[in-house]
Amino acid sequence: MAATKTGLIYDDYATLTPVHAGIDLTHLRRLVAEELELYQKRTPKSAELFARAQKHMVKGVPCTWQADWFLPYTFYVERAKGNRLWDVDGNEYIDFHFADTPAIFGHSPDNAVTRGIADQLLNRGVTSLAPTEDAIASAEMLAEKVGLPFWYVTLSASDSNRMAINLARSITKRSKLLMFNVGYHGTVDDTLKWMPRPGKIEFRWAHFRPGEDPAAVTKIVEFNDLEAVERALKAEDVAILLTEPFLTDGGFTMPREGWHQGLRELCTRYGTLLLIDETHTQTSGPGGLTREWGLDPDIWVSGKSIGAGLPVGVMGLKEEWARKWQALLDGFTPWGVCGLTGQGTTNSANMLCLRALRLSLEHNYTDATFAKMFDSMNHLQRGMQRVIEKHGAPFRVDAVGARLNVSFTPDVCYDALSAAKGVGFGGYREYWLYYCLNRGVVLIPIVNMILTGPDTTFDDCDKLVQLWDETLAHMYGK
Ligand code: PMP
Repeated sequence: MAATKTGLIYDDYATLTPVHAGIDLTHLRRLVAEELELYQKRTPKSAELFARAQKHMVKGVPCTWQADWFLPYTFYVERAKGNRLWDVDGNEYIDFHFADTPAIFGHSPDNAVTRGIADQLLNRGVTSLAPTEDAIASAEMLAEKVGLPFWYVTLSASDSNRMAINLARSITKRSKLLMFNVGYHGTVDDTLKWMPRPGKIEFRWAHFRPGEDPAAVTKIVEFNDLEAVERALKAEDVAILLTEPFLTDGGFTMPREGWHQGLRELCTRYGTLLLIDETHTQTSGPGGLTREWGLDPDIWVSGKSIGAGLPVGVMGLKEEWARKWQALLDGFTPWGVCGLTGQGTTNSANMLCLRALRLSLEHNYTDATFAKMFDSMNHLQRGMQRVIEKHGAPFRVDAVGARLNVSFTPDVCYDALSAAKGVGFGGYREYWLYYCLNRGVVLIPIVNMILTGPDTTFDDCDKLVQLWDETLAHMYGK
């Protein structure tokens, strides 16, 4: 196994690497190499586990996301508590990544949520093919918080998006979907595409379906381009349009004035279901940005932290679509009253996950919890902004709710390719990520987002601000 693919990454992402006066990329990449060396010195036990894992797991991990740290090898976690992680080498980290959201309410918090989950596990059972009352209580709370009346429970946000696509196709009798360039909606085959050049849709990352035209059922247009959306919907062959309130996964791509209203109108006009994916933006409040911004989706999807970190995804539906779905299922009753839906998985909506969902909605998805998260995020953003001004760096930090994006370019982005450039592939993000990791702070590896949870203190934020200051000083050769 190659020690590092760093050089290769630089070549792969060359056009995405920002170039700034006063920052020498060769110097920056030397700093990255030093950090990688230091990382390897600090993590010998992880290196041993990684070597051992090679025999039985591809890339040494049980799920390939866990290898996407752009490191020579991932570190292995020994335990996590509150907003702290410890690796098998005994290194302690302040957690600002929270597993890219699922753990945002804290690792194993000593509270009613954890105790309720433990009680369910020990005394009340894990799975059954019949639901519990927790399902009804959860649907009631979701309806109140998000505003959509009908709810369905899955295993993850990916699973919810897959279900939503399936449902939309079945109801509308259309096969296609529309999404935005660089948008991410989980490991859902028909969405794992992108458009690196205008009009040219390709399979994304390592996902290929040989013999299949990547544009067969997937249409992609640029975010904020309403004319292109209308062109894509006009043929009335699109079952569903999937979007986040703003795109998070390749740097923040923000909506222009009137964008969401335009999407709503076009979807209604052409009979396409509008899905808002709040898997990430649920960190903006108990009802996500749908509530904060007054969005009007037909389908609402989330997962990650909704079940306090247990594998739970949810899908909310407007009544009109819920009724049509029900009619479809009722109509499919080959042997009398009992239909065969063939939807979902036998692990979905299990008793343990439903308990976690209910408790998380009751205790975590409250204004009080979010107020704590926003407080620390405001503190962090102000500190990081001050550092940017101190160094006169052409960077920016934007926070929406408890989610902050670090951009290594100076402007707000309204298109995904500009936002992707802001991620700073090719030296900036790698140095920032590894510099923090080697000094006891873990950030989301895949993109440049930082999260604050209710356990994040101002001291934790100040530590990160200090590392940001040092990172920028070193980038400028100080
Ligand atoms: N939608 C969005 C917007 C996401 O960012 C993600 C994961 N990062 C998903 C869906 C999929 O979530 P999961 O991996 O938990 O299924």
